[in-house]
Amino acid sequence: MAASDPGLKAALDALPLLPANRAALAPVHPWPAGHKAAMFLSFDVDAESAWTAKDPARYGELVTMSFGGYEARIGTAKLLELLRQQELKATFFITGWSVEAHPAMCEAILRDGHEIGHHGFHHVMPQPGDPMLVEEVDRGLEVLKRRLGVVPKGYRAPSGEFCEALRVLLKQRGLLYTSSFRDDVRPYRHLLADGTPGLIELPVTASYDDWLLGLSHRYSRHTLLTREQVLSIWQDELAEIRDWGGLATTVLHPQCSGRPMRLRLLREFLQHARGYGDVWIATGEQIAAHFATCEAGG
Ligand SMILES: [Zn+2]
Repeated sequence: MAASDPGLKAALDALPLLPANRAALAPVHPWPAGHKAAMFLSFDVDAESAWTAKDPARYGELVTMSFGGYEARIGTAKLLELLRQQELKATFFITGWSVEAHPAMCEAILRDGHEIGHHGFHHVMPQPGDPMLVEEVDRGLEVLKRRLGVVPKGYRAPSGEFCEALRVLLKQRGLLYTSSFRDDVRPYRHLLADGTPGLIELPVTASYDDWLLGLSHRYSRHTLLTREQVLSIWQDELAEIRDWGGLATTVLHPQCSGRPMRLRLLREFLQHARGYGDVWIATGEQIAAHFATCEAGG
């Protein structure tokens, strides 16, 4: 809708004069075991579905596909090796398509004891009015159960978009938490439009999205950032979040952070984070369960 469109004023004037997200402010619960802050270590496993979601014809573009294919051939296995070395457990949000196409990769994640979360089926961005919304959620749930025996507790929106129908649907399907919104530094409880409580939110930030910091490709030729630049962003963000007693949530992709120099800097960052000694590095399920316990007064 162009600025000259006569419908623009009417459409804008029809918007409620209210915040889009009306959830109450995040409560300040203490972190467990005397930890000062928390880090939700999470990865989004999109594989080729990251590239086909907006244009299925790309499946025939084999070099474009190979960005995603790197996850199953190299990236995920290297990240799992790093997490074993660092004795850390993480959450992997996986698209249903990736589970079907790369079952061995997903079984390896499960075998190492990491949490597996829901990340849609085809990685279709969940926009308001999206006719694929229900199918994306239900097909993702079905394949996680059938292929991996997993009933996910957590959900991360593909391409980081959300809508009210999705909030309602995820609650109906029994999920515990989402990790998609960008409006806080602590977990909070969603409020649905009908006034009932929704899922727990573990908010994310672009600062920890390696797709924005570490992937340069034919459709987005932005400059790759150096190790020093990325470490500086990640360490500064964590230092301040730690002072605030908040939650740092990573959004890492094996097709970015599984690349050699990115894995090297992730190793250094995780060592740095662990070096604090008081940052709780945990899965989404652990953090959401802790929130639910505090919320219930436990
Ligand atoms: Zn994704």
